[in-house]
Amino acid sequence: MTTRRQFLRTTSLAAGLAIAPISRRAWASQSVQIGVVPPLSVFDYAQVQLLDGRLREQFDHNHDVFLHLDEDALLKPFRQREGLPAPGPDMGGWYDNADDFSPPENFHAFIPGHSFGQYLSGLARAYAVTGSSATQEKVHRLVKAFGETVEPAGKFYRGYHLPAYTYDKTSCGLIDAHEFAKCPDALDVHWRATQAALPYLPEKALSRAEQRARPHNMVADTWDETYTLPENFFLAYRRSGKSEYRDLAVRFIEQDYFGPLAEGQNVLPGEHAYSHVNALSSAMQSYLVLGDEKYLKAARNGLRFVDEQSYATGGWGPDEAFVPPGKGLLDASLGTTHASFETPCGAYGHFKITRYLLRTTRDSRYGDSMERILYNTIAGATPILADGTSFYYSDYNNSARKVHYRDKWPCCSGTFPQLTADYGISSYYKSEDGIYVNLFVPSRVSWSQNNTQCTLTQKTDYPHSESTQLAFSLPRPETFTVYIRIPAWAGAKTNVSVSGGRAEAGVEPGKFLALRRTWKEGDRIDVEFEMPMRLEPVDPENRNNVALVRGPVALFAVAPTPSKITSKQLLAATKVAQSSHDWKTQTDAGVLTLRPFADIMSEDYRLYLRVES
Ligand SMILES: [Zn+2]
Repeated sequence: MTTRRQFLRTTSLAAGLAIAPISRRAWASQSVQIGVVPPLSVFDYAQVQLLDGRLREQFDHNHDVFLHLDEDALLKPFRQREGLPAPGPDMGGWYDNADDFSPPENFHAFIPGHSFGQYLSGLARAYAVTGSSATQEKVHRLVKAFGETVEPAGKFYRGYHLPAYTYDKTSCGLIDAHEFAKCPDALDVHWRATQAALPYLPEKALSRAEQRARPHNMVADTWDETYTLPENFFLAYRRSGKSEYRDLAVRFIEQDYFGPLAEGQNVLPGEHAYSHVNALSSAMQSYLVLGDEKYLKAARNGLRFVDEQSYATGGWGPDEAFVPPGKGLLDASLGTTHASFETPCGAYGHFKITRYLLRTTRDSRYGDSMERILYNTIAGATPILADGTSFYYSDYNNSARKVHYRDKWPCCSGTFPQLTADYGISSYYKSEDGIYVNLFVPSRVSWSQNNTQCTLTQKTDYPHSESTQLAFSLPRPETFTVYIRIPAWAGAKTNVSVSGGRAEAGVEPGKFLALRRTWKEGDRIDVEFEMPMRLEPVDPENRNNVALVRGPVALFAVAPTPSKITSKQLLAATKVAQSSHDWKTQTDAGVLTLRPFADIMSEDYRLYLRVES
């Protein structure tokens, strides 16, 4: 028997599908049983606008590239594998449907259509940020045309190397198309796409070791990422109200990973890096929906273990793997690999898990962790080109260069546009009593506080300048709390003032500073950070191999680097000029230039220098 509540839910959803324009209410998530509501929520994409600066440029560029992608090319692998007419050019690289994939030499046609869902997601989020109707229309067209290729008993996944991987990305794209681009068909397509994938998924999440132990045709068949599935299954459940998705999420929770992590056991070494950080977001959705604290503990401990084996940039996972701690292996990696950190994917996963943990715990150190990754990795990624040429690895080798990846349209071309669309919503969070300022980026956030429409505009050249200014605009005075993240590295001279007067609350590094008062039009918060220079060893076993770090920014030594340098010389670095991002210091062999990752172009550089004392 259908209960009244179910009836109302079904009818309101049906009404939402049938009429246009669709009311905002019809697009709310379904009322499903949720275990935990975090104290902090994200703003809608439209509520936070990035102002001019590097992050805005990255977002605009990615939006433009993906808005102009050929739609037939995007759909081609799906049409080909279902035996449908497939006009248009091939995308190239990993994306194509062809039969010459042969690892490790040839990665052409590695995972046909793998990142379609991520491009869809990036576009849906970009539409939500900008309101661009061309972007929304493209999302709607792509969902419709993709839906026409989906056969629940179809052939797409037959003989496919990583079915869970591609399904998971498709799932995310369709959920986002529904939620952020208000595409009415997307949930129906999602349901059918799920039916098409299920026969090709194992009975539970499988580690790579388990996949290797099972019969397989080739090595790529052991690289699937079933352990990242629960996050999007839970999101599909929350979006659609279908309990089948919740059951699927529970089925794919990797207990052998989260169980030990929850108990404080470091089971990361040897595991594939990005997908296991991404899986921590599945632990967070498991915690939020099921309400079991074990999953929160797993996520917190997991990220702690990741941070403990991070480079000074916040990047992690040389050769895409976590290393056993205590053996000096991060140091060793500097001489053996140029694949130091899988940057767009890794940064995307890192932003996602730190956003979940920050919202849940209100611990500002997750914001510190996010900004370290932001300024030292993704902000320095070279732009994706229209032909799919992409940035993939940050290189921390002793002889390093910034290069593009050899294959077009890799995984990192999928996460990059998603991440740049998320810059805004990662910067501020809403609490019941006010607003949290997490990132110091040029931006504007608007929200309703006790029915007063408030706008906060942040102007800054941080982290190159040591200050940020926040200005309020509101039609009448309103009382609420503004929480400012004071990074753990902040020096004792860090100072916060409100409309010219020193803030009453004491500034404590590693905490949010709470400023509660009745705010009025024209009020201002000024933050002056003291950014002490420090040296960070690559790992505890190699304390004399160090990176110079100032505030959130690692400073890379630009070639030629001296054969001898002391700690004192490094720590004495000064700015080349007030307007420059470069630093310099005197060594016995001459002047050494140091430069943030985002300013490095094609020059040789190195992150770590061995100091004599
Ligand atoms: Zn990647």
